[in-house]
Amino acid sequence: MIKIEKLNKVYENGYEALKSVDLEVPKGALMSLLGPSGCGKSTILNIVAGLLDPTKGDIKFDGESVINKHPKDRDIGMVFQNYALYPHMSVLENVIFPLTVGSNKIKKQEAVKIAQKYIDLTDISDIKDKKPKALSGGQQQRVAIARALVQNPKILLLDEPLSNLDARLRIKIREEIRSIVKKLGVTTVFVTHDQEEALSISDYIALMDKGIIQQVDIPQNLYLNP
Ligand code: ADP
Ligand code: ADP
Repeated sequence: MIKIEKLNKVYENGYEALKSVDLEVPKGALMSLLGPSGCGKSTILNIVAGLLDPTKGDIKFDGESVINKHPKDRDIGMVFQNYALYPHMSVLENVIFPLTVGSNKIKKQEAVKIAQKYIDLTDISDIKDKKPKALSGGQQQRVAIARALVQNPKILLLDEPLSNLDARLRIKIREEIRSIVKKLGVTTVFVTHDQEEALSISDYIALMDKGIIQQVDIPQNLYLNP
């Protein structure tokens, strides 16, 4: 589904953040990118999303190169560590926003109907009319997940979505994320520096260090340094 080929990224200051990375994420799989801060996880995710240009290499979705495609045309949803909700909009307005802008935009009423499925999946119907600042971190992240999924994307990209949550919520929301993406069958890339988190949520883990991928395997087979 996602095929990353010989991906290289040198930032403007000359720093080589990715060194010829190859990676395949099978259709419908949940793959974690696991590694210490600064190893290049977000760089990969941002290039897959189209938010950052690679220096070299290619990214294919279902066999088709997306390197020259605008982020909006890549059929992806993305969730960030800091939720990135629109502060002046209600929860419902945040969730339907992607459906109401751009060339395929639809009427608000219709968008609300479509959004209902994702509002139910993420369990946010009681807070639909609230503004983001009135929500807990876990609630805000549920809203961000609903917004990322509302266009029924082929690919979901999650960049450390749990790291601003307390320990109890981290476990709860990660279980919810796994259950939702499995229910929808969406191909998912999950960035984390937390081993336990990666081991518990993933179908596959790509272990990274200093701009390279060291191993890719199912959690049970992965060799992790203690
Ligand atoms: P991770 O997500 O694993 O924490 P990143 O992909 O954010 O790592 O960053 C990889 C490396 O590239 C880090 O050493 C980081 O400091 C560096 N880096 C990230 N963005 C830039 C930038 N805009 N300019 C220069 N270096 C950068
Ligand atoms: P992360 O939480 O993914 O590790 P960081 O806090 O390292 O991200 O980086 C936040 C932002 O700063 C990103 O947009 C990244 O591209 C940029 N950045 C990171 N490292 C550098 C760097 N050495 N020089 C310039 N920009 C950087």
